[in-house]
Amino acid sequence: MKSNILDGKLVAKSIETNVRNRVLEYEENYNDNITLATIIIGNNKASKTYIKMKLKACQRVGIQTREYYLPEFTTEGLISLIQMLNEDSEINGILLQHPLPKNIDEQKCFDTISPLKDVDGLNSHSFGKMSFKETDFGAATPTGIINILDFYNIKLEGQKACVIGRSQILGKPMALMLLNKDATVTICHSKTQNLENEVKSADIVIAAVGKPEFIKKSWLKEGAIVIDAGYNLVNGKSVGDVENPNGIASFYTPIPGGVGPVTVATLLENTVKSAENQKALIQTKIKQYIKEEIK
Ligand code: NAP
Repeated sequence: MKSNILDGKLVAKSIETNVRNRVLEYEENYNDNITLATIIIGNNKASKTYIKMKLKACQRVGIQTREYYLPEFTTEGLISLIQMLNEDSEINGILLQHPLPKNIDEQKCFDTISPLKDVDGLNSHSFGKMSFKETDFGAATPTGIINILDFYNIKLEGQKACVIGRSQILGKPMALMLLNKDATVTICHSKTQNLENEVKSADIVIAAVGKPEFIKKSWLKEGAIVIDAGYNLVNGKSVGDVENPNGIASFYTPIPGGVGPVTVATLLENTVKSAENQKALIQTKIKQYIKEEIK
């Protein structure tokens, strides 16, 4: 079978062009900048690399950044910092890079981020809204995957999708987003029995396990669409969670150049959206205030 590549770099470029135009329009309309605050706690090398990529992307589209690198911190300290950033009118979005060190109560910190500024879509409010098919800010990676599928006009309605992985940042929101698009979704995890059969029956396979080439090519159904969110370094080379599906998949995301660049572009898109929403909210409040005063 001829396999087609789902080119994440191309999708990211198209999102970035749109974001760049919206940033320019925002600056012109409001005489103001858009600013993303980024927080890293600890010395996780991968987190530093990811943040670097995100900051570079912000630069490309004209989003300003304010960076916080904190080698050690407590949950209470981090909550206070986030609360200050919530109140800081110069900050439009807050990105708390995960994973956080074990001493930090991760969800408590994510939940402190104002829903208006939760551009990585990781707090309970953003997750809960998805259950009602309302996505202010979907988590960046699964939203990015939906962006890839939309870009290539891949039909989800009625398709059998198998998501392998159920993390809060990836597997679970991914499954919910696919469900919201009318796919029939199976979520697999470390306790799933006969994973091979689950994968074999899927039209769309989304891998989010974090184990290099864990899903075998021989498990895939002929013509399946394979989205590999995995990113593993093996002997200095980046490898996905799925064995290269070329020849069996109808479409697949490459590693690198698949899900990664679109995740970053989606974060930029969410940041612009948050800035636009904040201005719209202020204007609605002013209009409401004037209306009340005139009464
Ligand atoms: P995670 O929190 O470690 O979750 C891994 C999931 O895989 C868990 O739900 C786990 O199940 C499941 N799993 C582990 N062993 C399994 C097995 N033998 N069979 C079936 N399921 C199994 O990882 P994550 O944060 O979701 O990330 C997953 C991958 O995506 C990683 O490679 C990560 O680097 C990558 N990632 C990429 C991007 C990007 O932008 N490209 C962004 C985020 C993450 P249990 O719940 O039962 O433990």
